[in-house]
Amino acid sequence: MATTPLASTAAHAKYEPVIGLEVHVQLLTATKIFCSCSTRFGDPPNTNVCPVCLGHPGALPVLNRKAVEFAVLAAMALNCEIRETSIFARKNYFYPDLPKGYQISQYDRPLAEHGFIVIKSENTPKKIGITRVHLEEDAGKSLHQGFPGAAASTAIDLNRTGVPLIEIVSEPDIASPDEAYEYLTRLREIILYTAVSDCNMEEGSLRSDANVSVRRRGQREFGTKTEIKNVNSFRFIREALGYEIDRQVGVLESGGAISQETRLYNPAEGKTYAMRSKEEAHDYRYFPDPDLLPLVVDARWKNEIARHLPELPEARRARMMTEYGITEYDAGVLTSNKALADQFEEAAGKAKNPKRVANLAQSELMGRLKAKDLTLEQSPISMKGVAFSADLVEAGVISGKMLKHLYDLCFERNQDFPTVYEKEKPQQLTDTGAIEKLIEEVIAANPEQLEQYRGGKTTLLAFFVGQVIKASRGQANPQLVNELLKKKLAQ
Ligand SMILES: [Zn+2]
Repeated sequence: MATTPLASTAAHAKYEPVIGLEVHVQLLTATKIFCSCSTRFGDPPNTNVCPVCLGHPGALPVLNRKAVEFAVLAAMALNCEIRETSIFARKNYFYPDLPKGYQISQYDRPLAEHGFIVIKSENTPKKIGITRVHLEEDAGKSLHQGFPGAAASTAIDLNRTGVPLIEIVSEPDIASPDEAYEYLTRLREIILYTAVSDCNMEEGSLRSDANVSVRRRGQREFGTKTEIKNVNSFRFIREALGYEIDRQVGVLESGGAISQETRLYNPAEGKTYAMRSKEEAHDYRYFPDPDLLPLVVDARWKNEIARHLPELPEARRARMMTEYGITEYDAGVLTSNKALADQFEEAAGKAKNPKRVANLAQSELMGRLKAKDLTLEQSPISMKGVAFSADLVEAGVISGKMLKHLYDLCFERNQDFPTVYEKEKPQQLTDTGAIEKLIEEVIAANPEQLEQYRGGKTTLLAFFVGQVIKASRGQANPQLVNELLKKKLAQ
């Protein structure tokens, strides 16, 4: 392989990248898109198949209503217009994992078009257009390992054949590898909120291909693009795009031309390699599938589906920032997962002071998670636990210092807050006589502060409370100390 000329920074300044992404998302229906076979992942190969998904002659596809509803819901969440009548088309090609010799997809009349999502690019909101969202069936899977005789042959598992997919095609609005990463992250977050897919990249429920070209700044026409396929993480897509942009600028700067081709990314080397030239690409000879009626999503059905549209992450972040007075960053973390945001809001809603729950979640919980490199899902303390602790602080039962200590113990023992609290809760001193004795000692030991307090500096109350609690080794009930001190200091 010839060494690729890589471009200098000065060369990069002359060009701008143009990136478009095609994302395939598997829908979480129980059965396939055109037959009643199960879509379960991980079943023994070729056990979830029937004449329809195997493409036997004469077998007729029947469209899965749930798949349509999920696709429409996702398209709505991506701000698309839903086309009332869309058409299923056959995309004809031969491949071992495609027994019918064609894939049922949508072509010139897709389910939905003209959408967008908003991403953050260098801290500024940027709209990325979504050209279309269409429904199609998945193909099977070629297996190269994990079965007897794998060294000499390839096997086919057709369980995935006919699993419903949506393909989400972006406009070429993405201008850098970082924007591509951000787009994919936001897109995944939105799809997860709609719950139409688990977006599990390891199981192939979300797959992304990238088209990338570069052009001279100020030039209107696009440069020749290459397509990067089969990259299995967002991070690798960002890396692959970075490398590919660099390579293309290098080729152009040294007087060469980019050939339109499909490239594969090797993450170990951080490089892309040409896989096949686009000139060899098939003409798919799309035509409307004669076995399927046009798909009609009328206003009534559309409205019914729209009722299932949840509050989406961006709107929820904005609302939570106002409602709980938290920062944009923390709102981002709390809403990054719908289940978690739901848990947080449920717990905070029942707490005495929701804002305190938010504050504890961000300061005490997230700080510790970050230090231990844990995600919120892995947290020993649940949102209910955070709310429970917030109520204790609110009621003056535990001090902020004690709360920190208990949080540390939760992380040490991997137990939730209520469990640790039950075991560790200090034997509280509520004996009025004993507390009054401590108060007298503290007052006697601090005559200057007493004089200042009686002279009007009432903020010193907190100082006295602190001293009494300290004298009780943290065991005096803060609320009681407060009340008794006020009386005593006023005498
Ligand atoms: Zn089937």
